[in-house]
Amino acid sequence: MLNSFDSIPAQDRIITALDCDADEALDIARSLSGHAKWIKIGMTLYYACGPDIVSRFKDMGFKVFLDLKLHDIPFQVHGGAYSAALTGADMLTMHTLGGVEMLKQGRMGVIEAAERRGGEEPITLGITVLTSMDEDALSSIGLNRTPAEQVELLATIAKQSGISGVVASPQEASKLREILGPDAYIVTPGVRPAGSDLGDQSRVATPQQAFANGASHIVIGRPITKAESPVKAFENIVSSI
Ligand code: C5P
Repeated sequence: MLNSFDSIPAQDRIITALDCDADEALDIARSLSGHAKWIKIGMTLYYACGPDIVSRFKDMGFKVFLDLKLHDIPFQVHGGAYSAALTGADMLTMHTLGGVEMLKQGRMGVIEAAERRGGEEPITLGITVLTSMDEDALSSIGLNRTPAEQVELLATIAKQSGISGVVASPQEASKLREILGPDAYIVTPGVRPAGSDLGDQSRVATPQQAFANGASHIVIGRPITKAESPVKAFENIVSSI
């Protein structure tokens, strides 16, 4: 299925995950500036630096994906999403495992923060099944569906809640595109350029496969951040697409 993101240039659809300390993250971001549009702040960086780290990257011209994977009672997620969106982040995550009401409340928090800031509503994404988890890992926590079935169920929950899209493995992206339609954000980590180290990722695909399967954006961390030249690694990925 064609999607609404296909006409956006590849370099604007690659999100570099800066899972490192602040000095390294800022160095990598400086080198990617003018090449990449998006960077992702996860809990490694956020818990070390606090909310101000978001504006450091915004001031450098990046769009910021703040991946804090909220999962709590709806009241707390409402407050957490409100506070997270007040940082100026452009994209935020919550666990779909928290259910429809929690996701709705998280989105409400984001909308209220956008009203207070006077900006656009940030993109809200539901985490489905972590790309590090395979069928055995799911069954070890009592979830006896295949990863694909579990992701489809959780994507339906995301759709019902009215959030912007989901995070899932590139292997599930084409099915998700069918379920969620052409305008949904489908953001896929677990992306590895051919020949690179899998690390702890399990359900992986190459950048080309991820986009061909219908991903709107792909997240790549260590293949860029651990490369001798992160900007060369980024540009090699762009030209491979
Ligand atoms: O280094 P690597 O490319 O494996 O980084 C992937 C990034 O995507 C990490 O920041 C991780 O937190 C995130 N992520 C993931 N699987 C999900 C959701 C997010 O790997 N389902």
